[in-house]
Amino acid sequence: MKIATKFIHAGMEPDPSTGAIMTPVYMTSTYVQEAPGVNKGFEYARSQNPTRKALEEALAIIENGQYGLAFSSGVAATDAVLKLLSPGDEVVTGNDLYGGTYRLFTKVFERFGIKFSYVDMGSLEAVEAAISPATKLIWLETPTNPLMNIGDIAAIAAIAKSSGSLLCVDNTFASPYLQNPLDLGADIVMHSSTKYLGGHSDVIQGALVVNDKTLYDSLYFIQKSCGAVPGPMDCFLVLRGIKTLHLRMQRHCENGEKIAHWLRKHPKVGKVYWCGFEDHPGYAVAKKQMRGFGGMMSFELKDNSVETAKQLLSSTRLFSLAESLGGVESLINHPASMTHASIPREERIKNGLSDSLIRLSVGVEDAEDLIQDLANAIG
Ligand SMILES: *Cc1c(COP(=O)(O)O)cnc(C)c1O
Repeated sequence: MKIATKFIHAGMEPDPSTGAIMTPVYMTSTYVQEAPGVNKGFEYARSQNPTRKALEEALAIIENGQYGLAFSSGVAATDAVLKLLSPGDEVVTGNDLYGGTYRLFTKVFERFGIKFSYVDMGSLEAVEAAISPATKLIWLETPTNPLMNIGDIAAIAAIAKSSGSLLCVDNTFASPYLQNPLDLGADIVMHSSTKYLGGHSDVIQGALVVNDKTLYDSLYFIQKSCGAVPGPMDCFLVLRGIKTLHLRMQRHCENGEKIAHWLRKHPKVGKVYWCGFEDHPGYAVAKKQMRGFGGMMSFELKDNSVETAKQLLSSTRLFSLAESLGGVESLINHPASMTHASIPREERIKNGLSDSLIRLSVGVEDAEDLIQDLANAIG
């Protein structure tokens, strides 16, 4: 089945009692049992909910996996993966990570005796050098937030396999429309469904998809034992978002390409970070593992002062100044003081995230209007 058909029909069964084409929102905490222990597969809503079940089936289908799990947020999904580990285990991950992932690793899981190595995931030598006998998990974000660095999923999956560790890919930026990590050998794919899957900036949610039944059972056990499950209304919203994911992503890609090229030609704009440029260091790998380059990008102005950057950030009218990404409306963000403020300044600067970096989540509005808005703001 082709992607557009798959995204629209994923997890959809007409409601058996009424024929309703849309999955009902089951607002219930428990299910009446016919006799003690005799039930219809639903006992208590932390463990099972029919709306969540439909979404989890859809998540598995759109990521070409066997099993999907929905969580109350993206970080709750990440938290569940880390809970597969035990004290003394080691994780190899990138030095350019979503700020909340970095905070969870350094401020929560390091306290529980998990060790993390932060390396340049664009360098396979660096990944290999960081592997030790205690490595149990490789955590890869690609493209990265906010510098748009690319990691080679298939090559890193091979390293994971030979070292006996799991590979989890945070696929939030690409979305399943542009990239399917399980097809490239990853063991787990993670999403902040808050972003492109939901697509309308109206829900916080996370997802995991896997192929292996044992791994699924372990993650389901963690989901139900730790309880970070999404409510049924939120599941309905993400299920609805998935139906238009392909249409939105096509426009995000088109607009992203136009704006990245326009920014690069602008006399006042310095470096533009977008993985669709042929001279981007990760271009060849991005081209190989992605179906398009998406609508996320970052840039610096030639006048590299924080004041000028802040002036621009406050001057756009269509691009709203806000954290988050992946919604239909365009957003502009200052990683140093907003999304990535939880990363110590020295760490940020060392990894190339300057104080004047500006990140864009290009929405699905008319590209000409968006360019006009940026032109006015840059001056
Ligand atoms: C937003 C985001 C997360 C965290 O997801 P929440 O839904 O905000 O908890 C993780 N990774 C990436 C790349 C993100 O953009």
